[in-house]
Amino acid sequence: MLRTVDLTKDFRGFTAVNAVNLDVAEGMIHALVGPNGAGKTTLFNLLTGFLSPTSGQILLRGDDIAGKQPEQIAHMGVARSFQITSLFEQMTLLEHLELALASPTGLGYRFWSSRKQLSRFKARGMELLDEVGLADRSGVTAGSLAYGQKRALEISLALANDPSLLLLDEPTAGMGLEDVDRTIALVKKASQGRTVVFVDHNMHVVGSLADSVTVLQSGEVLAEGTYDEVRNDERVITAYLGD
Ligand code: ADP
Repeated sequence: MLRTVDLTKDFRGFTAVNAVNLDVAEGMIHALVGPNGAGKTTLFNLLTGFLSPTSGQILLRGDDIAGKQPEQIAHMGVARSFQITSLFEQMTLLEHLELALASPTGLGYRFWSSRKQLSRFKARGMELLDEVGLADRSGVTAGSLAYGQKRALEISLALANDPSLLLLDEPTAGMGLEDVDRTIALVKKASQGRTVVFVDHNMHVVGSLADSVTVLQSGEVLAEGTYDEVRNDERVITAYLGD
């Protein structure tokens, strides 16, 4: 589904992502972990076209998407849920879904073009809210949601274009235990029939969700494998705990 070949990003001589080779099979949930500054966000920005690589390839189902525009990549079935919220406090949950469904790329919001289209979006919007456990809140404003519910709404917006590759940037950041467990269940459900790549610092989340894990450090792949493999890897233990 997704493969990177020697993917590299330099920022004026500083290499944030250095010859990274990722290989994520279709239908898998893959975690990217690593300390701050490891290059996780830069890698996500490369995969979604928000940054162009300095060198290397990004293969999506075999097609090289390196250097393509975010809209083109989104059209090819890649969606990303941001860590920083892009919600309108005064708009209802269903209104968010209606506008997201009207956007062909999921990169922004658009208005619907007919009443018929709107009623279709309303129905699909309710299904998506139901998928993330927010159907009973469809008529309330986003501003009135608790933090964990806002994050769930963001995931439902990322699902609006039915992506085949879903990228989640720290889906459980800042959450309490209950919301973390709810998010784990939600991501498991959202992963059915699609491939997921996520970044998270919470090892309980990584262990519960990930079929495979890549550990990055200073822009390079330090280790990869199953959660148990990387957890017991001497280099990973040293990187996290020091010598
Ligand atoms: P992570 O998400 O793993 O914390 P980042 O991808 O944000 O790591 O950053 C990796 C490194 O690249 C950091 O040292 C960061 O300062 C640097 N970096 C990120 N974006 C830029 C940029 N636009 N210009 C220069 N350096 C950058």
